[in-house]
Amino acid sequence: MMFTSSSGSHTAALAVTDPQVAALVADEERRQGETLKLIPSENYVSAAVLAATGSVFTNKYSEGYPGRRYYEGQQVVDRLETLAAERARALFGVEHANVQPYSGSPANLAVYLAFASPGDTVMGMALPMGGHLTHGWPVSATGTWFRPVQYGVRRDTGRVDLDEVRELARRERPRLIFCGGTAVPRTIDFAGFAAIAREVGALLVADIAHIAGLVAGGAHPSPVGHADVVTTTTHKTLRGPRGAMILTGAEHARAVDRAVFPGLQGGPHNHTTAGIAVALGEAARPEFGEYARRVVANAAVLADELAARGFELVSGGTDNHLVLIDLTSRGVGGKPAARALDAAGLETNHNAVPFDPRKPFDPSGLRIGSPALTSRGMGAAEMRQVAAWLDEVVGALAAGDAAALDAVVKRVRGEVAELCAQYPVPGVH
Ligand SMILES: *Cc1c(COP(=O)(O)O)cnc(C)c1O
Repeated sequence: MMFTSSSGSHTAALAVTDPQVAALVADEERRQGETLKLIPSENYVSAAVLAATGSVFTNKYSEGYPGRRYYEGQQVVDRLETLAAERARALFGVEHANVQPYSGSPANLAVYLAFASPGDTVMGMALPMGGHLTHGWPVSATGTWFRPVQYGVRRDTGRVDLDEVRELARRERPRLIFCGGTAVPRTIDFAGFAAIAREVGALLVADIAHIAGLVAGGAHPSPVGHADVVTTTTHKTLRGPRGAMILTGAEHARAVDRAVFPGLQGGPHNHTTAGIAVALGEAARPEFGEYARRVVANAAVLADELAARGFELVSGGTDNHLVLIDLTSRGVGGKPAARALDAAGLETNHNAVPFDPRKPFDPSGLRIGSPALTSRGMGAAEMRQVAAWLDEVVGALAAGDAAALDAVVKRVRGEVAELCAQYPVPGVH
């Protein structure tokens, strides 16, 4: 295959020209190979996505859109971007797809630029409740240039209460309502949000950054037909390169396109567009539906096994790829737990839990998920093993004996490496 040989020669060229960076790439490949990626926003791309992302499309400027560019030499790039957009439309069943946003945050900013004016009221889920910074959290531009009102989850259920959202929306009359988030373990009721948005005359934006792959694979309901605008990253459960897309009906196509370029961005990252096109092609195959179902099944096993071991889970469990652990009852914070787990080869991230009594830099939660392990081919048995390791490391940390913790971390790290050796990272040989 041409791709294989060209990516092989890229690696060789890197080693000759810059052995220092080549060594860092090799170190990171080794690190990813020997550890378990439990961070739910991360994944592994295929060798094909890596090859497309590392291609000569990085050499080309193409401000504008296919057929309407500001630079010459777009004969091939136009075909590439058209193909990526066609695949996005077909996969998600939408009339329009913009594949140019540099990442999820700029995609959301483009939505504000397209449909709101500075000072307008905008509504989203609060960051510590599971929302994203760009849904109007105060430290984000979206929380300072607009007037944010924020909803959360119920204390007793850990879930969004649509009656509460409706009441807030009726009172505040937002221009935009965002649904979706970064630490939401439950199914998002797009139809319920859409009814509220319609009632108050707001535009509903479904940010499916985390769950796009589940939606594409049929393992989570689709926002299409409910939300006015859908934004998503391409690098989480969708398994593409780092990038984003905005999906809409034809009536919003022009506003979205103008907001992305020239409103917010210059030239699109064509090498990323190439990787997105490949990932969308992969996600359209029947195997991807199987992958999405396994991601959800694996997360359920992980959640059940953790709950059986006495871990407290926000909302009591999961419907999707993500599990949010509240460590309060285990007597340790999320940050020291994540550190100890990382030393043991289990990559997680510390995270706030709803109504977290601790500080944002030292929160009570640990956020984990199944997408990356599922990409490596792992199943229920491995999920149970991972839960056992989490329990051992957190237990040793809570016990407070540094030498004993060190011994547990070392042993688990070895066991993790053994498991990893049986499940190579996709795209890395
Ligand atoms: C990850 C994420 C984003 C932002 O993506 P970046 O590519 O990191 O800018 C936006 N919204 C949600 C819900 C996300 O999970």
